[in-house]
Amino acid sequence: MLIVMKKGSSREDLARVKGLVEGMGLTPQILEGTSHTIVEVTGHTVPLEPARFETLPGVARAVAVSRPFRHAAREARAAETTIALGAGRIGGGGVFVVAGPCAVESEEQLLRTARLVKAAGADALRGGAFKPRSSPYAFQGLGLSGLKILARAREETGLPIVTEAVGESSLELVAEHADIVQIGARNMRNYEMLKRAGRLKNPIFLKRGMSATLEDLLLSAEYVLDAGNERVILCERGIRTFSQHSRFTLDLSIVPALKESTHLPVFVDPSHATGFRDRVPPMAAAAVAAGADGVMLEVHPAPETSLSDGRQALLPAQLTELVARLRDIAAIAARRTEAVR
Ligand code: PEP
Ligand code: MN
Repeated sequence: MLIVMKKGSSREDLARVKGLVEGMGLTPQILEGTSHTIVEVTGHTVPLEPARFETLPGVARAVAVSRPFRHAAREARAAETTIALGAGRIGGGGVFVVAGPCAVESEEQLLRTARLVKAAGADALRGGAFKPRSSPYAFQGLGLSGLKILARAREETGLPIVTEAVGESSLELVAEHADIVQIGARNMRNYEMLKRAGRLKNPIFLKRGMSATLEDLLLSAEYVLDAGNERVILCERGIRTFSQHSRFTLDLSIVPALKESTHLPVFVDPSHATGFRDRVPPMAAAAVAAGADGVMLEVHPAPETSLSDGRQALLPAQLTELVARLRDIAAIAARRTEAVR
């Protein structure tokens, strides 16, 4: 942390800043510049908040030198985080495809979908047993029986399962049945839930809140990492803007920005972002070209009968074509990177 003193600040102002820093058990070092005096603070093991110093008399501003996330920051690890799952691996090249229905609606619907997801060459199966819906009157999911159906689909197809926990109370139950526990956009700021997710053995699939910044998302990931769970996957799923042509606005520029800031794998969900099935393939392709480690896609064997998000569910044939296309794009993107290196 660098604390920049105002021009014309007094000796007492400087002494007050120094005293506060020392009182916190930290070391202040005074750097007398030609135009400004700067107090460099060292010795902290957790990030300091600039606001703590900025209200002191004589202080112009305080600037954090290290990032506010200790574990999630790219500098925290030498290599990218990779997560082995089923027959595949998340991170470290290639594209990991998670596909499935919005919700588990019945055993028949889910098993049919699981088979087509497997046949399309996807890597994992998604499907909500607990659904966080905007309306309390909308389908809320099958709960525990939905989780049991997902486990049956894994038994039959061998596909690992990604499914959402919607609150602290369902977290352990979901963790018992799922391979990856999803924390959705609405719970990205549920800090008690994030801390508890940090004590699970499962990787956590953390979706960006619809009004969250990159820093908000990484600080949420930080809760999980700091509680001891090192396996967090981040997912961009669209944010709220003034645009009305799309369900949300897919902020693809966060992909390279996250890649710069963190070692964690980055996914994109173009289904919830766009809200229309025909817009999903072009945006999934763009996500992989932009460097995403994976995509999450909604698909339904008969979308017109779907109990939620039918409009954005890919048709089975669309999924098959898209998975093949995404593999090609990932291969080209990898070759390009190699060539540049
Ligand atoms: C979902 O993936 O099922 C979901 C509800 O997504 P989000 O949290 O991004 O809205
Ligand atoms: Mn959905």
